Amino acid sequence: MHRRIITPGALAAASLMLAIPASAASYSPGAPGIGDPYYPDYGNGGYDVSHYDLRLQYQPATDELAGTATILAKTTQDLSSFDLDFLLDVSEVRVNGAKASFATSGQHELVVTPKTPLAKDTPITVVVRYSGVPSTKTAYGFNTWHRTPDGAVAADEPEAAWWWFPSNDHPLDKATYDVSVAVPDGTQVLSNGTLQSTSSKLGWTRYSWRENKPQATYLATLAVGKFDITTGTSEGGVPIVNAYSKDLGDNDGAARASVERTGELVDWLSGYFGPYPFSSAGGYVPNTTTGYALETQTRVYYSPKQFAKGANTSLVVHELAHQWYGDDVSLKGWKDIWLNEGFASYAQWLWSEHEGEGTTQQLADYVYASHPADDAFWKVKPGDPGPDNQFDAAVYDRGALAVQALRNEVGDDAFFAILKGWPKEHAYGNASIADFQAYAEQVSGKSLSALFDTWLYQPVKPAAPAARAASIAGAAAPVQPKSWKKIAATNDVH
Ligand SMILES: [Zn+2]
Repeated sequence: MHRRIITPGALAAASLMLAIPASAASYSPGAPGIGDPYYPDYGNGGYDVSHYDLRLQYQPATDELAGTATILAKTTQDLSSFDLDFLLDVSEVRVNGAKASFATSGQHELVVTPKTPLAKDTPITVVVRYSGVPSTKTAYGFNTWHRTPDGAVAADEPEAAWWWFPSNDHPLDKATYDVSVAVPDGTQVLSNGTLQSTSSKLGWTRYSWRENKPQATYLATLAVGKFDITTGTSEGGVPIVNAYSKDLGDNDGAARASVERTGELVDWLSGYFGPYPFSSAGGYVPNTTTGYALETQTRVYYSPKQFAKGANTSLVVHELAHQWYGDDVSLKGWKDIWLNEGFASYAQWLWSEHEGEGTTQQLADYVYASHPADDAFWKVKPGDPGPDNQFDAAVYDRGALAVQALRNEVGDDAFFAILKGWPKEHAYGNASIADFQAYAEQVSGKSLSALFDTWLYQPVKPAAPAARAASIAGAAAPVQPKSWKKIAATNDVH
């Protein structure tokens, strides 16, 4: 989504600033990146976070955000210093109670040097006191903090945290969250999970949200504004919290006609993916001018524009499917994005079939036929698209084709066992495409190397569509599914 080039020089400069004290020669700085080749300085090395506690105050009139982050972590090496990813202005850092020195480095690194070096496998408590105006901060020339007429929103991929809390910003380091934000009375705060409490004093109302299951940093969301909040429980027992900006204009009806079906769709998806993995579900529609949605954990972010043509339940299905494929089981590296988008897109095909708007096979045949062999679409490898094509249409549409190809190869029984077993196999953890292939081979008893290579890793149009060998001969002429138009532009969906 974001196009940029990370220069090796920037990383080298970051490393040079980290001098090792002579008295602690065995201790070294944590790496400024977690080791993802797509984004070399995203995340950090040397520690693993278990919990973020954010106690903040936000003034919509001025876009000023201030407060304290308390981060519980454990060191994974002997550390003389370590980095956090962050852009706001820091006034104090403490590590295990003692004041630490700190400096900024690179595009978004906050380098923290504790008073005494930290031994490997030590629990640490890091307190960062900060303030700033998020809309004025950029890294790589961009800013993903969205201001709205009555507040602001943090929801983007793969980076959104830098503008509102210091973190180890990579999906590999998942943690639980308490997000408590005070805003002027009459304004509301949304975040992930469940609302634990609200309280008001001195003209400010504080909202305290809790996500009690591990969550990737990019899936943490914050929305401040004036919302109409609806609550309920799905038939299957999942608590639902949805919210709509009071300023959605003509899109208000279609937004509600889509997002109010969250409970029904969570229950329906549970039939394919297994029990819903989190303690609440829902979505929110702020009055932003963006054009995408994001699977922010338990509380999906939707742009009003996505409801301009009417209700869009297919979009809601896509984002809710991510709660299993992306949020519960997160990718290990950003090149594994097919595990998120291929399956969320395939869930839309299952929904289309459920709605009588084209079967998954018809949709697969249609996508295959609609891109000629010389179409650039086939040059993007869904299994390793590169950072510039991470959200290319091919990752979604060819990605879903790959899922249909898998289904046809292993048969429905094994396929649906894989679909439902995978979220359980790696619950609340991380996995790669290689892990998925191994799992699918284990469940199906078939070698799938050639299939995965053909559909995910070759930059050419596969020779044959993902057809069922047994049924293709007697198949009727391909039908253009009625729903296709609304699914076609999936690259504005995350
Ligand atoms: Zn998606």
